Amino acid sequence: MVGEHDGSTGEATPEIDLSRPSIARVYDAVLGGKDNYEIDRMVADQVRVNMPHISDVGWFNRALLGRAVRYLTADVGIRQFIDLGAGLPTLENTHQVAQRHNPEARVVYVDNDPIVLAHGRALLEENDQSAVVTADLREPEKVLAHPDVRRLIDLSEPVGVLLIGMLHHLHDDEDPQGIVDAYVDAVPSGSHLVITAFCDTGPEARAVEETMLEFLGTGRFRTTEELTAYFGGVELLEPGVVSLPLWRPDEPVEEELTVAQRLMAGGVGRKV
Ligand code: SAM
Repeated sequence: MVGEHDGSTGEATPEIDLSRPSIARVYDAVLGGKDNYEIDRMVADQVRVNMPHISDVGWFNRALLGRAVRYLTADVGIRQFIDLGAGLPTLENTHQVAQRHNPEARVVYVDNDPIVLAHGRALLEENDQSAVVTADLREPEKVLAHPDVRRLIDLSEPVGVLLIGMLHHLHDDEDPQGIVDAYVDAVPSGSHLVITAFCDTGPEARAVEETMLEFLGTGRFRTTEELTAYFGGVELLEPGVVSLPLWRPDEPVEEELTVAQRLMAGGVGRKV
């Protein structure tokens, strides 16, 4: 067990349990990162049984994050982001992409796994425009009232709200739609919502969903229509909710997508 201390609030964060897999660490293992343990790698291997190219799926997801944050920062002029379910730091984190296009950009990472704070703080040590907050995103009021969110996010100015690779970890009875709407309601017009999530595309997808449910306790792969419904409170931008490689690709994409390329879908919407 590893005890951590959250320097920003003065509160002790919960201990990190190394005997059970964590979503953040399993995802890190899938991406080929080093901040994971045997138990996490075992779950990643289980997923690989049905989805040998799961690492590619993770990187399609990170690539969409990069394209969407670049678009929001460079083209739309968004200067502040709240990254909900941020995960462990990896390559091309939100603040790095955003600050490349606008050095003044501010980012708050929110995750309920304390290991994200432990690793994220080291990365952000020299960056007072970014913070990691340990909080449960299912409590939007508490998240938005957190001192670091209040310090870095000005709710009178457009915000980029990111829910990347996250909503499939919420069961239907946790009211994911209500949670998305609460964040959209809290930000002003001109704000943008970015969502990516696992998509129910067929038997292979359902096998991955079952493995996640068995080992992580969460996994709800939704149809493109269900994912599109999350954008009910905003204007969904072109090309809509699509398989990740098809969202405004930098390079032409082969017509026929592979199972891995279709495993996640995402889109971006603008609050009018
Ligand atoms: N957003 C990153 C990305 O797409 O590359 C990381 C995605 S990772 C698959 C999902 C993250 O959501 C994990 O780090 C997990 O700890 C976090 N998470 C799950 N449930 C959460 C909750 N209720 N509140 C905050 N974070 C949560």
